[in-house]
Amino acid sequence: MNDATRKELTAWLEFYQELGIEGFYRRKPDAVKTLLSPEAARHAQPAAAPPPKHIAPPVPVRRATAPVPPKPAAPATPPPVVIRPPVPSFSLFEAAPAPRSGPETLEQILQDLGDCHRCKLAPTRKTIVFGEGNPHAELVFIGEGPGADEDEQGLPFVGRAGKLLNRMMQTVGLKREDVYICNVVKCRPPGNRTPEKDEVDACSPFLYRQIEAIKPRLICCLGAPAVRTVLGIKEGITKIRGHFYDFGSTKALATVHPAYVLRNPREEKILREDFEKIRDFLKGS
Ligand code: URA
Repeated sequence: MNDATRKELTAWLEFYQELGIEGFYRRKPDAVKTLLSPEAARHAQPAAAPPPKHIAPPVPVRRATAPVPPKPAAPATPPPVVIRPPVPSFSLFEAAPAPRSGPETLEQILQDLGDCHRCKLAPTRKTIVFGEGNPHAELVFIGEGPGADEDEQGLPFVGRAGKLLNRMMQTVGLKREDVYICNVVKCRPPGNRTPEKDEVDACSPFLYRQIEAIKPRLICCLGAPAVRTVLGIKEGITKIRGHFYDFGSTKALATVHPAYVLRNPREEKILREDFEKIRDFLKGS
């Protein structure tokens, strides 16, 4: 290597060191292309030619840091080809799923519930009874769990207790299609037994999400399991019925379950009384 070539090469090496490129090795440009996907290879820049002779090599700039020990003599090869990864034609941020904005819808919650097998009620149920009614209702009724008729039809309160609920609504001028009706658990407990704690624990998050999606002005808890789940009150229903409680920014009224009135017809007046309180609450601003 003559002096002029050595000088030129030294200048190039110092230039690359300034850029932080220290090591050089020989690799065939074609071999690099085979490491890339066909798509990437298409985007890959053609192997860069050695710097044209007419462009003067950069003037080496002295480092401000400690001097670097001299490197062994560099091979007399052209500067290495730097292949940059292909620039994606889309933004990675655009490609990410759009963040959810605003509250969930009942449809999204239903979709998430899916063919639920989160508790031991799943194997014996026929249908999941998600809930029914106006997704923007001012009033949400919460019962205990589906019975045989509800399990059959997939709708809440369609049996005898449901007929009484409808009649109570009618007496105070409420329409079933204006309210939303659901239960603490969405699957029928065998023999209509009271839902057990693990079943309520598995199912109640979906109930809370439904309430959050609907944002009613008033929740009416029908019977002790609903009162216990929604309000965390363990006292007997006959003691606390007719009272309003806070559930976040929503009010909640506790009353007896229509099935209890079916078994104790003389108690119908207390259910009626509580429905009148619901009507008065909703009439107020
Ligand atoms: N009893 C309930 O608690 N819920 C229903 O859906 C039907 C009967």
